[in-house]
Amino acid sequence: MLSGRGLLGEGPLPDRVHVPGHVAIEGDQLVWSWLHPDAPDPFQGRVDFQVVVAVASEIPLGVDTSDWTYEFIHHTRPHYNSPRGMLDAFVRVSDGRGILRFARRYGVLGTCTHGLPASHQPGCGLMPLTPRQWNPVYQEQWSHWLHYAQRASAMLRVAAALHQEKSGSREDWGTLHVGRGELSKLVLLFCQRPSLAQTYLAGLINDWLALANVQPRLSWGGPESTKPRFNLAGWGTFGILGVQLMAAVTRSQHVYICDGCGFPYIRERKPQAGRRNYCPACGEREANRQRQRKWRSQQQ
Ligand SMILES: [Zn+2]
Ligand SMILES: [Zn+2]
Repeated sequence: MLSGRGLLGEGPLPDRVHVPGHVAIEGDQLVWSWLHPDAPDPFQGRVDFQVVVAVASEIPLGVDTSDWTYEFIHHTRPHYNSPRGMLDAFVRVSDGRGILRFARRYGVLGTCTHGLPASHQPGCGLMPLTPRQWNPVYQEQWSHWLHYAQRASAMLRVAAALHQEKSGSREDWGTLHVGRGELSKLVLLFCQRPSLAQTYLAGLINDWLALANVQPRLSWGGPESTKPRFNLAGWGTFGILGVQLMAAVTRSQHVYICDGCGFPYIRERKPQAGRRNYCPACGEREANRQRQRKWRSQQQ
C-alpha cells in the first residue's frame, strides 16, 4: 500500500480529477473556465452549458475527438488527470505561481463567496466572473487557496508528531485551531492528553471530507474500469485532497518532515537516529552534493 516514491496519501481510493480547459491568474484571483474563453458557442445560446460540460468533462486526455460533431471540443475541452501526487503538490503551494501550476495539473478547489468549497451547503455555488452565459468564467481567491494549503500541511505535521508520541508544534495548532478556546490552554491540554489531540485532528479531517461531500461510489465500465471498482469521491479536487489527507494520516507513522525543504513526505523505513532525512527531491540533490564533494576531495 505504501508508495516507495514518497507520495502522500497515495492509495486506491481517490478518483480521477477534472481539470478545467482554461486556468489563469488575474491579480489576486485564480480565474478558470471549463472550456477556453474564446471557444465559440456552437449552440448559439440554445443549449444549457451545464448539460454540455457533463459530457465534455468526461473525455479522457489523449482521445481524438476531431471527428466529433462538436469539433470545438477538440481544442477547448476540459480533461481529466490522475490525482497521483496531488497532496504532495498541494502542501507546497505558497504563492500565485504555485497555485497556477497546481490548478493546471490537478484542477481547482471550486470555492464560493464564503471561501469554502461550494459543496459545503446546498444552493451555494462557484463565483462567476461574468454573468451567466455560454462557458462561464469563475474566480477563486488566492488567500483561500493558501489557507487550505497551510492547513493541509499543518495537519500532516501534527499527525507525524502524534505518531511519534509528540503533541505537535504550537505553530501548527495555531494554523489549525479556529474559534472557541484559548490556543495556549489547548496546546497544554494536548501535551497532557495526546488522545485528545488525536481526536481533534481526526475531527478536522472529517470536517474537510464533510465540506467536500465525500461519499463512497461504485464505478463500472468506461474507458479505464472494466471491473467494478469502489472509490470515494466528492467535490472534485477538494474532495480528493480530503481523501488523500485521510489516507496519509492513517499511515502517518511513515510521514516525516524533510530536513531539506521542511515539507512532510512519506518514507518506507524509519530514518536512523541522529541522521538527517530528506524527501525524494531533496535526497537526490543531497546525494549529488556529496558525490561532488567526494569527487573534489579525490582530485586534490
Ligand atoms: Zn458558500
Ligand atoms: Zn525536501
